[in-house]
Amino acid sequence: MATRSKPAASPRMSMVSPKGDCVDSLRYPDIADLMSRLHFSPGDGRIWLGDQRMLLVHTGSVGAMRRELIDSLGIDAARGLLTRMGYNSGARDAELARKARPDSSITEMFAVGPQLHMLEGMTVVEPVRLEIDVEKGQYYGEFIWKNCAEDEEHIRIYGIGAEPVCWTQIGYASGYTSVFMGRPIVYREVECRALGQSQCRIVGKPVEEWGDEAADDLRFMQAQSFTQGLSAAAVKRDVRHGPAVALLGGTQPPTPTAFGDDNMVGASPGFNAVCHMIRRVANTRATVLFLGESGVGKEVCARTLHRISACSEGPFVAVNCAAIPEALIESELFGVERGGFTDATHSRPGRFERADDGTLFLDEIGILSLTAQGKLLRALQEGEIERVGDTQTRRVNVRVIAATNLDLKDEIRAGRFREDLYFRLNVFPIRVPSLRERREDLPVLLNHTLHKYRERHARDVTGFTGRALDALLSYGWPGNIREMENLVERGVILAPDGGAIDIGHLFTSGETIDAQMFGLGTNGSLTPSGSLLDQQAGGTGEVERVVRKVNDLLMGASGDIDPTSLDDIETALLKSAVQRAQGNLSAAARTLGITRPQLVYRLKSRGLRV
Ligand SMILES: [Zn+2]
Repeated sequence: MATRSKPAASPRMSMVSPKGDCVDSLRYPDIADLMSRLHFSPGDGRIWLGDQRMLLVHTGSVGAMRRELIDSLGIDAARGLLTRMGYNSGARDAELARKARPDSSITEMFAVGPQLHMLEGMTVVEPVRLEIDVEKGQYYGEFIWKNCAEDEEHIRIYGIGAEPVCWTQIGYASGYTSVFMGRPIVYREVECRALGQSQCRIVGKPVEEWGDEAADDLRFMQAQSFTQGLSAAAVKRDVRHGPAVALLGGTQPPTPTAFGDDNMVGASPGFNAVCHMIRRVANTRATVLFLGESGVGKEVCARTLHRISACSEGPFVAVNCAAIPEALIESELFGVERGGFTDATHSRPGRFERADDGTLFLDEIGILSLTAQGKLLRALQEGEIERVGDTQTRRVNVRVIAATNLDLKDEIRAGRFREDLYFRLNVFPIRVPSLRERREDLPVLLNHTLHKYRERHARDVTGFTGRALDALLSYGWPGNIREMENLVERGVILAPDGGAIDIGHLFTSGETIDAQMFGLGTNGSLTPSGSLLDQQAGGTGEVERVVRKVNDLLMGASGDIDPTSLDDIETALLKSAVQRAQGNLSAAARTLGITRPQLVYRLKSRGLRV
């Protein structure tokens, strides 16, 4: 550490290639390729960087917002927000890195991050040392920042202090590198102008290599901690148990079981909002309704809610309403009494009674029968239940958490769900975002899952190959976290010992290719599936017809010409350009002299999938 912290003599990178050998002193590649992706489109009020919409904002106004955040929320909360905002930007830029320099060396590809950071006006980034091995998950990065926009504003308002303050930028570096590497990489600012030094210096390493040192920095990258003021000691304890637990939203004891079934992992705004809501409602008695696609982790959210609630000492009973036959659901939930109206041979309590003084989690509530819905409503309203075949009522003290991936309002309209029960359940709805809506959490989630299955199957798998990572990051994830877990588990099992998970170890079943946004191309890279290229296979005739008409028109052919519209001609041109470029939209856009976003817009406005 001590030798690595020495200032660099020149802005050159000392690098280690993917093979592990040392490559000396490479300068940044020409930034022209990145600048060519920046488009100002004042006519429609947009700025584009690749396909991301950007903003030009005044550093002074960002500084004013920063001051208000600090003054109103306190320095810790403000730092956390700004760090995660930076993390989000960095994660987005990392998606551009491999696209922008597909045929370059790994270090040139990585340089996209520091170069974009400069292009975006944050700071000058001078590389000191960079060692990358994506497959082995090895990373060491040290950079010097000069002219940071962030500390400049901070010093102007608060003067020199005792803590580094380039929070957004540290978040950016961590987000960029974590997504690039496919595992959590944490940067720390070891020097900062706000400490009175002449420049800032940052060091980035995999989270587990930091040990105790980065506990405090890590705290600001976590979404929300599930205990008041997550203590540094708790984070330290988690760090020792691996990166996944260290970046968990909570501080549950890192026992193997907690490690195994907790996916409360992430730093994205959407996930952060969920954590915030869970924390707000946990200590009330309110009924909570989790909404969201299947596989997003609603049960994990419910367990977390229970764990931090006042009834955490009581039982947590989970029922998947869809997994129990309709005829049995009432006796399952409310219990059954021997004799009487039933032919039950034994009396037994239902899940409600078993969850007494605890939490009952009802998953897939939308498919409950109307009779069961009536009984549930009564349990919620009166706090009492009646076993099937019994006339006696029993009091229960149960907090109900429900979840559904159905639109319950639709179910009400269709007469399948009771409106009064809906209002009773919908006291505190929490929508859990899909994995597509929280892509920047993928590195942390992938890493968490990788560790989990490596341990479970006792496999020595190092990580993901670059192209596997590309595929994972651009995949559509219709099955959300559950699907991600399945893919990674399969990868861990199939990958060679001591090696990395490659694309063929992940996407092995046909269903992922034909059902999703992306499919596998013959060269192993992901291309849009079922999109333009396929449409053209059957649509060539249409293009030919248009070409014939245009020819007739331009060449002044005599006689009647089939009428054709400019719109048809443009559609044919767009399709041909995409086909010629083999689906590479940027190349197709260049052929047509328009920007990629413009091409995408035109294709979409014609109902063509991209
Ligand atoms: Zn700084």
